[in-house]
Amino acid sequence: MDEQRLDGNAVGGLLGEIFPFEMTSAETACAGCGATSGVGAAMVYAHGMGTIVRCASCDNALIRIARHNGGGMGQYWLDLRGVAYLKIEEAT
Ligand SMILES: [Zn+2]
Repeated sequence: MDEQRLDGNAVGGLLGEIFPFEMTSAETACAGCGATSGVGAAMVYAHGMGTIVRCASCDNALIRIARHNGGGMGQYWLDLRGVAYLKIEEAT
């Protein structure tokens, strides 16, 4: 497959454009195997279609992010079906 492996924190900049909090420190639970990890500790792949965050335990696609330009407006498409839950710490 034509994928480029990145460090988990590499997705932090992209997620930072979408979410107004630090997503790399959020905890995800994998819908495939139940493993929990920080988004920053998951495996991230840059792909022709966008960016994929994969479970480090079972390789399940947790989060897919694609960026499109439609009608001059940029849009982010987030596919979160691989995530059972996201735990986000409240800002202090
Ligand atoms: Zn998993």
